[in-house]
Amino acid sequence: MRLRLCAAYDHDKARHEKRLAMAALPDGWIEAAGEDLHFPQAGVVDPPAFVRALLGATPLRQAKIIRLDNQNGKWRTEDADGNHDVFDAVIIANGLDALSFTQVSALPLAGALGQIDWFPEAPAPEAPAPTSATAFGPYIAPAPQGGVVIGATYAPIEIGRSPAFSQEATQTNIAAVRAKFPELGAALTPERARPRASIRCTTPDRSPIAGPVPDWTFYADAYDGLRHGLTTPYKDGQSQDGLYILTGLGSRGLVSAPLAAAMIAAEIAGAPAPVEAGVAEALHPARFFIRELKKAKPQ
Ligand SMILES: Cc1cc2nc3c(=O)[nH]c(=O)nc-3n(C[C@H](O)[C@H](O)[C@H](O)COP(=O)(O)OP(=O)(O)OC[C@H]3O[C@@H](n4cnc5c(N)ncnc54)[C@H](O)[C@@H]3O)c2cc1C
Repeated sequence: MRLRLCAAYDHDKARHEKRLAMAALPDGWIEAAGEDLHFPQAGVVDPPAFVRALLGATPLRQAKIIRLDNQNGKWRTEDADGNHDVFDAVIIANGLDALSFTQVSALPLAGALGQIDWFPEAPAPEAPAPTSATAFGPYIAPAPQGGVVIGATYAPIEIGRSPAFSQEATQTNIAAVRAKFPELGAALTPERARPRASIRCTTPDRSPIAGPVPDWTFYADAYDGLRHGLTTPYKDGQSQDGLYILTGLGSRGLVSAPLAAAMIAAEIAGAPAPVEAGVAEALHPARFFIRELKKAKPQ
């Protein structure tokens, strides 16, 4: 399967040219196709199958964690059935619901509701399902279980609200395809759509949050000088031993989560980091706190 990235706007053409000129990908991974970009190695991922493959033989126990406490240097979890477990290390990785844990509840996370629509059968003989994925702002792609999938909508949603699909979002997805591929779009009718809505977890700078959970009291004391513009050398940040977070993956979690997770796994295991220090800094959970201090006016 392949991926075609279309130039939907004039500025996309310049961006595509820049991407080609960067030559950041190996030979044959990115090609010009008129004004569009073509990725012969890329394709569509079946998310549940991808997660199963990543999990491999790792033992999994599913439970809703309602409480997390540090006791004698270990992390104690309590689940919704009243079971307790004790761990040397815990990674909070539950999207927007991370805010339910007091240790990270101050992070500036937000929700973005998204809906995709799946059409299980090829839309129509005269307009068959595409054989490669095409992204043009929205996207249309062959679905892993057959037919096509189109999407996705993007709208703010209040924290605490459950996601729900809507006819309106289905119409929006169909209209986007019709504007770009009129024949194929005409064969997609709302009655045949199987919608699915979910919530993306976003951050103010649109980058994920991945790393050790800061010791917030230490940060507030040690970096208070930033509010007064003091540039004296500051101590290194301190974190809550054994507690990590990976969230804020926004619209690209399937792409960015594995590397962010490898970064945290390396830190827990004391192995060399798989990314440069600048990447870890850009994703650090304390970055918003530090930025707020720098912006704050002295009292
Ligand atoms: C419509 C739509 C289309 C998208 N398309 C793409 C795409 O094309 N490519 C791409 O890369 N990304 C895409 N994304 C984004 C991608 O789905 C997310 O970035 C990714 O799922 C985030 O992974 P996550 O594990 O952080 O959160 P989630 O996938 O939200 O998983 C969080 C998990 O935590 C569990 N959980 C919550 N609270 C608790 C608790 N207290 N205890 C235990 N478990 C808990 C939840 O049940 C859930 O299973 C899309 C998202 C949407 C909504």
